Amino acid sequence: MAPITIKDIQVILTQPWHSRLIVVKVITSEPGLYGLGCATFTQRWHAVEAAIEGHLKPFLIGRDVSRIEDIWQLGMVHGYWRNGPVLGNALSGVDIALWDIKGKLANMPVYQLLGGKCREAANVYVHADGRDPQEVIENAQRFMEQGYRFIRVQMGGYGGKNAGKTRPEGALDGAYYDPRAYMRNMLKMIEAVRVTLGDEIELLHDIHERLIPIDAVGFAKAVEQFKLYFLEDALAPEDIAWFEHIRQQCSTPIAMGELFNNPHEWRSMIERRLIDFLRMHISQMGGLTPARNAAIHANFYGIRTAWHGPGDVSPVGHAANLHLDLWAPNFGVQEWCRFPELVYEIFPGTPEVRNGYMYPNDRPGLGIDINEKLAAKYPCTDEIEQWTQTRLPDGSPARP
Ligand code: MG
Repeated sequence: MAPITIKDIQVILTQPWHSRLIVVKVITSEPGLYGLGCATFTQRWHAVEAAIEGHLKPFLIGRDVSRIEDIWQLGMVHGYWRNGPVLGNALSGVDIALWDIKGKLANMPVYQLLGGKCREAANVYVHADGRDPQEVIENAQRFMEQGYRFIRVQMGGYGGKNAGKTRPEGALDGAYYDPRAYMRNMLKMIEAVRVTLGDEIELLHDIHERLIPIDAVGFAKAVEQFKLYFLEDALAPEDIAWFEHIRQQCSTPIAMGELFNNPHEWRSMIERRLIDFLRMHISQMGGLTPARNAAIHANFYGIRTAWHGPGDVSPVGHAANLHLDLWAPNFGVQEWCRFPELVYEIFPGTPEVRNGYMYPNDRPGLGIDINEKLAAKYPCTDEIEQWTQTRLPDGSPARP
């Protein structure tokens, strides 16, 4: 039998909610058979689109759709220089779509191809924010009433807001934050939440790499008593050598990885047992294939998964996360952004969450589709991102 081949690759761009989403449609030589993949890099969507149209598409047309591993391995080095976030997302769009196609051909959900289910549904966590501890507590209580058992608590977004009051004359505009004030305020907030909501609720917090390394060590140590489920992005990727110091000081569980690009960035952290949860944005790392490999590798070291799952992961990416979550023996928790109804209309089959659990729909492949006509009604916009123009109280630029 002649192999089924890649006939066309289309890039679908849509922005039905706050993030620009990039979805790849791989069309095959078999009439009616196609797959969807997530390639969402919301801040650099033009670059991903160009990489797919100009480089990946001509390279992949005519190839056998069944050879996912072969395509992924070649896709990583075809440009000779190793992939970064743009090419990682571009390759992911194709990789995830090929898994979707393989599932459709096998008439099985993708989690079956990975090895079958370890659980019926995935525990998710949601984000509770607020201007003060009381508001965070009230928002968290609302989630608890809806059945959520894992809640990420933040106050004033990342790093706290209204931190630009003491800026010097002439300081430039930007998203100001004060790392020292943030640290003091968050510890008070997390204590208030824990005291009010009790020990059973699982609490998470994201530092978003906004502290200098030694303060991150101090924060992880100070927050240990509140028994977080995990502390996220305590350090920036540039400062990962400091994770060893956090480990020496406390047993606060550490989640890391949403800013990682290349598989080799997390390998040594896993092997040295410096983190407890893998948090990669699976489209950024190159798709479902490397995410599966990283999960298996981490399992040998007692490290669990907690894939990145905010609104700048497309519903197709969330579906891929879910299939990994259902299969992985070392699944921890899944981040969930609570898409509005419109997103469910554009992407029929978007995972559903009930009582704090995300469920699959058991259709073949990823179980998700796209209404392209409706998606086209919400084109991507070209706004210049504001929140990543971060500054410290004296006006100096900082990492977002
Ligand atoms: Mg994060």
